[in-house]
Amino acid sequence: GNALVLEGVTRSYEQGETSLEVLRGIDFELRPGEIVGLIGPSGAGKSTLLHIAGLLEKPSAGSVRIGGMEAAQLDDAGRTALRRRRIGFVYQFHHLLPEFTARENVMLPQLIAGLSEDEARKRADELLGFLGLADRVLHRPGELSGGEQQRVAIARAVANVPDLLLADEPTGNLDPHTAEHVFDILLKLVHGTGLGALIATHNIEFAERMDRRITLRDGHLVEL
Ligand code: ADP
Ligand code: ADP
Repeated sequence: GNALVLEGVTRSYEQGETSLEVLRGIDFELRPGEIVGLIGPSGAGKSTLLHIAGLLEKPSAGSVRIGGMEAAQLDDAGRTALRRRRIGFVYQFHHLLPEFTARENVMLPQLIAGLSEDEARKRADELLGFLGLADRVLHRPGELSGGEQQRVAIARAVANVPDLLLADEPTGNLDPHTAEHVFDILLKLVHGTGLGALIATHNIEFAERMDRRITLRDGHLVEL
């Protein structure tokens, strides 16, 4: 099935007496292997959309399907399991565990998912090697550059072979040169695997190198 399908997704927030409709009837499909840029000004609802797609927040109405599975039919435990197996997240700040090595940070989600230590280590080293970090597997985050830290965070996000990768300003905290390098690697990774990626970015050049671009206007999704 598709990496992500949204149908009629609406989200409003109560603000005192009034209600703010941030998303109004969003329909969206993300195919496997497709990388879509989510752009638009601050406050447009990008984070809200990513949180709903990532099953971190529930829509007020509408349907969210990940790899063909309808999230609304699941209880909280089922949603957490679906999120852990099928969805990877990358944020602007890496959120790596500082006391663990790069390899251990990438092993951890796999161990939680029930893989053996040997399997998890093998997969972690393969991924870190692919991302150009073969000689960094035993470094802790504090011993890595910003670009290296973010590449480890990307490896961790895809460690469990998700259907869907969601990223919120993944290069927003990096200098332009490092951002370019990390973005190139992210593109290569998505196109080399079957996963679908939805990436919020303020970087128009990066967005133009993705397969499609969308934005939010007045709560509606607009294809650019
Ligand atoms: P973006 O990521 O595009 O900057 P957000 O999704 O963070 O936009 O926010 C969209 C709008 O929704 C903003 O006006 C914000 O203030 C409002 N909003 C977001 N989260 C909440 C919340 N938990 N409670 C109330 N309002 C919220
Ligand atoms: P990249 O652009 O690939 O992320 P950089 O060019 O920023 O990497 O850094 C090159 C090397 O310098 C890194 O491999 C790292 O070992 C070292 N380095 C850079 N910044 C730091 C830092 N803040 N702390 C420790 N080492 C660093």
